[in-house]
Amino acid sequence: MFDSLSDRLSEAFKNFKGQGRLDEKNIQAGLREVRLALLEADVNYKVVKDFVEKVKERALGQEVQKSLSPGQQVIKVVNDELTELLGGEQEGLQLTKGKLSKIMMVGLQGSGKTTSSAKIALYLRRKKFKPYLVPADVYRPAAIDQLHVLAKQLDMPAYPSTTEMNPVDICRDAMVKAEEAGCDVLLFDTAGRLHIDEPLMEELSSIKEHCSPDEILFVADAMTGQDAVNVASTFDDKLDVTGVVLTKMDGDARGGAALSIKSVTGKSVKFVGVGEKLSELELFYPDRAASRILGMGDVLSLIEKAQSVMDEGEAEKLTEKFRKAEFDLEDFRTQMRRMKKIGSMGSIMKMIPGLGGLTKQLGDMEIPDKELNRIEAIISSMTMQERRQPKLINPSRRQRIAKGSGVKLEEVNQMLKNFEQMSKMMKKMMGGKGGKGKMPKMP
Ligand code: GDP
Repeated sequence: MFDSLSDRLSEAFKNFKGQGRLDEKNIQAGLREVRLALLEADVNYKVVKDFVEKVKERALGQEVQKSLSPGQQVIKVVNDELTELLGGEQEGLQLTKGKLSKIMMVGLQGSGKTTSSAKIALYLRRKKFKPYLVPADVYRPAAIDQLHVLAKQLDMPAYPSTTEMNPVDICRDAMVKAEEAGCDVLLFDTAGRLHIDEPLMEELSSIKEHCSPDEILFVADAMTGQDAVNVASTFDDKLDVTGVVLTKMDGDARGGAALSIKSVTGKSVKFVGVGEKLSELELFYPDRAASRILGMGDVLSLIEKAQSVMDEGEAEKLTEKFRKAEFDLEDFRTQMRRMKKIGSMGSIMKMIPGLGGLTKQLGDMEIPDKELNRIEAIISSMTMQERRQPKLINPSRRQRIAKGSGVKLEEVNQMLKNFEQMSKMMKKMMGGKGGKGKMPKMP
C-alpha cells in the first residue's frame, strides 16, 4: 500500500549517508526530500509542514547515539512521528459484551460501506459476537439486495428492509428484531450519496439520535486521497464519528488519506480494507504501518536490539572496517557468535549503516545453527594470523584446517569463497575506495 512513498523516503534518507553528524544544514537538506515525498503522496500540506518541523526539532535536539548513524537517527525520529501521524495506538471498536451494541456505517456512495459492514460483521463474529446486519439505504435499491446477499454468504441474519420503509424506522425496529434473534451487535448500513447533501445529513443525525450507536464509522475510499479527508471532516462535524475505515488500501492509493485523516479530524483509522473479499479487512496498526512505509521491516527493533548487544561505538568501528575492507575472519567469528543471540546474519547486517540494502538482495540469510557451528569450527581451527589475513590460507593450510575442524577440504574452500564474496559485496555497498570487484585490502 505505501509503496511509492516508501521508495521516495528511502531516497530521501540517502542524503544522510556519509554524514558524520546531524546539524541544522544537513537535516534541512534531507528533510526537504522527506517533505516532497509526503506531498507527492498527497498528504495534506499543513500536516506535512508540522510533521517536518517536529522531526527537525527532535533530530537536532537528540542525544547523539554512538551506535547509530545519522541516517538511522533520523529514520528513528521519522518513524516515531509517522506512527503518531497515523494515529498512535491501535484503536479497536469500543463495544461492551453482554449488551446490545450498535455500529453505524456512514460515508459516500461507492466508498465501500456495504462491503465493510459485512466485513466487520465477520470480524465481530470471529470475536464471538452475534452480528445483525441492517440495510438502511432505501434510495439505492441494489444496496438492500447487496447486503442481503452478503448476509446469506455469511449465514447471518439481516433485517428485511424494503425501499418503501423509512430509514429511521428500519433501524429502530431492527434493534428489537436483533434482540429477538439473540444477536448482540447491529451494523447499520446507511445511505450514501455521491456528494454530501443536507437531507442525507439530517437523516443520519436522526438515526444517531434515535439509536444512540456505540460507534459511528466513517468509511472512506483511500484512493480519493485528500477528498476523503475533507469529506471525513464534514461527516465528523455533523455526526461526531468515532473512527474511520479506509477501504481499497490494496489499490495504488498513495497514502495521503491514511496519513492526514487523524491530524485533520482527530479520529483514528480503526480498520483498513485490503481487497474485495469479506475476509480482506485488517485492524489498523499505526506503528506497523509506519515501519512498512519506511520499508524497514523490523529494522527499528533491531536498532534497539543492537544498542543492547553492541558496545558503544562498536557499530561505528565495524562500519569503518567494512569501508576499508578490513573486515576479517576474526571479526566474522565475533559477529557470528553474536548472531546466535540476535537471530540471523541479515539482522546483523541491517545494523551496519549502509548495509541495509544488501539484506534486501540476499534475503535475511537465516543460517541454521548447525551450519553456524560448522563455520565457527572451521574459523576456530585457523591461527589468529590466518584469521586476520585470510589471503595467507594456501592449499596446505586449508588441508590442516579441514583436518583440525573435522570437515571436508571442499567445505573449507567453500567457506573461504563465500567469505570473500561477502567482503567484496560489503565493500561495494559501503562505497569503499578501490573500485568494484577488487580483492579486499589486507590490514
Ligand atoms: P457503498 O456504496 O459505500 O456501499 O460501497 P460498496 O460496499 O458497494 O463498495 C463499492 C465497490 O468497492 C465494490 O465493488 C466493492 O467490492 C469495492 N470495495 C470495497 N472495499 C474494498 C477494498 O477494500 N478493496 C477493494 N479492492 N475493493 C473494495
